[in-house]
Order: sequence, then structure tokens, then C-alpha cells
Amino acid sequence: MTSPRVALALLACALVAACGPSTAKKTLCANNLRELWVCQIQFAKKEAGRTVLPSATGSAFWLAIQEVGAAANPPLDADVFVCPLSGKSGGKGVTTYRGPRKDINTLPESAVIGSCSGIHSDESMCVLKKDGSVRVVEKSSPLHQQAIAETAP
Ligand SMILES: [Zn+2]
Repeated sequence: MTSPRVALALLACALVAACGPSTAKKTLCANNLRELWVCQIQFAKKEAGRTVLPSATGSAFWLAIQEVGAAANPPLDADVFVCPLSGKSGGKGVTTYRGPRKDINTLPESAVIGSCSGIHSDESMCVLKKDGSVRVVEKSSPLHQQAIAETAP
């Protein structure tokens, strides 16, 4: 008899096989955004008990985080700033992610602060909100439109 745990493991394997490498890379892209969120919290300045993030907008926001992260020990991995489906390699001053269109410090938790747009061949998009939640959305999703409106390259 097959235990439920083994059955679940088999199901997971079948799903990975069915979805293929592109889905795995989309998951990596979503993981990058999750990691960038952790980094911006980690490298934020604390002023009078308040967390202050860089006020730069668009991709310059992520590059400001990258600059602080490069000086950390161990230094932040530059590949985190690049979508694995972009074919680009990470490095100083390189990011494929869109950043917040306005000063992030003024935005509500529900605002989109990062996204991967125009790179995935199926037009899906990875979306990061200020509250740290990350989702992979299709072009038809309302969150897709919100992300385009609230982030900038
Ligand atoms: Zn991506």
C-alpha cells in the first residue's frame, strides 16, 4: 500500500515534470523578489525607531539596495537582481526588476513595489507587494495591471 506521504511526493514529481523548466525559472524569479524584499528590510536604515528605505524610484530603488548589499558580509548575490528568464547575468548596476513608482516610504502595505515585466515568454509577471507577498500572475489578472501602474523600470 502507498502511504499518503509517498503519494504526495509522487504527485509533486509529476507536477514538476508536467510544468517543465520555464515554470521552475518563474519560481526562481518569484524567489528573487522574495529575497529582495528580505534584503530591503535587512539593509534599511533605522531612524528614531522607524524603518527608512531608499527613496529612489523604479529600478534605481533596487540598485540602491544592491549598493548597500554589496558592502555587507557576506556580500549580497548580484544574481538575485536579475530574472533567470532574462538571459542576463547579474553584476554591479544591473537589475531587470521594476521598482516602486513613488517613494516607498510613503506607500501603503498593499502597494506593489517590485515586478518582473515583459520578460517571461508567456507574458506572466512576478509581483512583490510592500507587505512581502509575492505572486506569479497572468496578463489577465487585475494584479498585473496594478503592478504596471505602481512600478517603473
Ligand atoms: Zn521574471
